[in-house]
Amino acid sequence: MADREDLNRIKKQQSLRRRVRSRAKLVLDRPQVETLLSFLELTVKQHGCDDSFKYTIEWAVQHRVDPRALVESLRGFDATCDCDVVRLIVPAKIF
Ligand SMILES: [Zn+2]
Repeated sequence: MADREDLNRIKKQQSLRRRVRSRAKLVLDRPQVETLLSFLELTVKQHGCDDSFKYTIEWAVQHRVDPRALVESLRGFDATCDCDVVRLIVPAKIF
């Protein structure tokens, strides 16, 4: 029978596994993610989000990152647009 301690241990292992998987999925390293996030935060604040990855793609092209691979990896974090990226990608939780 699993008591509370077992359940906590299992939960911790699951979240660790999830983090490792997420990191493997993300095509950017931490400094790149942080640059992308500050760019998106500023741009979405100024221009709003049009429910696309418009600014994410713009950033990728400027930084010589494959936009398609990047968008694909962001979808792995359930992001569907630029403001989702700001909301859902938390470097401290991934790296
Ligand atoms: Zn959005």
